[in-house]
Amino acid sequence: MSQSKKFETQAIRNQTERTQFLEHSTPLYLTSSFVFEDAEEMRSSFAEEKERNLYSRFTNPNTSEFVDKIVEMEGAEAGYAFATGMSAIFSSFAALLNSGDHIVSCRSVFGSTHSMFTKYLPKWNIDTSYFKVDDVDVLESLIKENTKILYIETPTNPAVDILDLELIGEIAKKHNLIFIVDNCFATPYIQQPIKFGADLVIHSATKLIDGQGRVLGGVSVGKADLIREIYLFARNTGPAMSPFNAWVLSKSLETLSIRVEKHCENALKLAQFLEENKNVELVKYPFLKSHPQYEVAKKQMKLGGNIVAFEIKGGIEAGRKFLDSIKMCSLSANLGDTRTIVTHPSSTTHGRLSVEDRLEVGITDGLVRVSVGLENIEDIIADIAQALTLK
Ligand SMILES: *Cc1c(COP(=O)(O)O)cnc(C)c1O
Repeated sequence: MSQSKKFETQAIRNQTERTQFLEHSTPLYLTSSFVFEDAEEMRSSFAEEKERNLYSRFTNPNTSEFVDKIVEMEGAEAGYAFATGMSAIFSSFAALLNSGDHIVSCRSVFGSTHSMFTKYLPKWNIDTSYFKVDDVDVLESLIKENTKILYIETPTNPAVDILDLELIGEIAKKHNLIFIVDNCFATPYIQQPIKFGADLVIHSATKLIDGQGRVLGGVSVGKADLIREIYLFARNTGPAMSPFNAWVLSKSLETLSIRVEKHCENALKLAQFLEENKNVELVKYPFLKSHPQYEVAKKQMKLGGNIVAFEIKGGIEAGRKFLDSIKMCSLSANLGDTRTIVTHPSSTTHGRLSVEDRLEVGITDGLVRVSVGLENIEDIIADIAQALTLK
């Protein structure tokens, strides 16, 4: 696959080699293993003298096609596909860290990633220090002799804050840290963290990459030497993506650019509508001029993404009533679906946290998160508008 192909073209034309049947669309290789011509071929394949498929826990034509596309889109050297976003994150950390290593991470990370940092990695004597998104200045002071990884998500969930990839990439480089970015909210169509110095980029393919709320998946791409470690870890411990999911996800990538364009167009229109609504106190969307990190967003993102956060007047009660008044949009924990999804984190997903802990990750009482879908924007706005007026 030549580097010179444009994003949309390679998403469609980067395909597994055709079989003797000359199929147009890549078939599903639902097979757990592959056969060898003779003993010598089997020996050389297992010795890795020859690059070929052996067993689908290692590689499979469908997962390879999916990974190759993401590698190209992110400008990476290599990658590996996982069963879920969380297995991609956990395996990447487990493969690269040793007991006694230390991580510096932004505080606003996906909930299960936070659990991994605070509950599981400490079992193997790996600790994490957090910095808040509005206090990047303290980042350098958290770096210790044994710090090995610098980890961030941007835009963050659910408050849609933006971290400066270039600035943080420079700090990682200066201190010789492995810089890892969870690029799930942006997708490679909007933002390519490797350009700003990321060594590894991780995705939950479950979200906008699938885009239709069907399958789970994850992927880790980046520097070849790091991916080699991650691959060997995964090959032995077994978090591989299923060929079926890879087949679905590779086809999803063919339409990623047009889907993301439309998601973002709808999201910007909803954000502009909400800015004018008298029951809304504050709207957070990266491509609104009022966003605190608007300039950084413009520097590193092609579009503003599909997540809009807003603060409803009236706090927790108003947030609950808003959810109850929604007629068309879905109340669901997923995001990046064709269907618009609304959540009120302080009374649902983050309801068990203390007010202080919620505020640490930017969750105020009235914060509503909308994952804007691909329905007609007039219908999306009409549903949200009627739910806002009901008191
Ligand atoms: C959903 C999500 C994950 C986890 O992905 P799964 O596929 O659900 O395991 C990780 N990071 C972010 C930012 C997510 O939104």
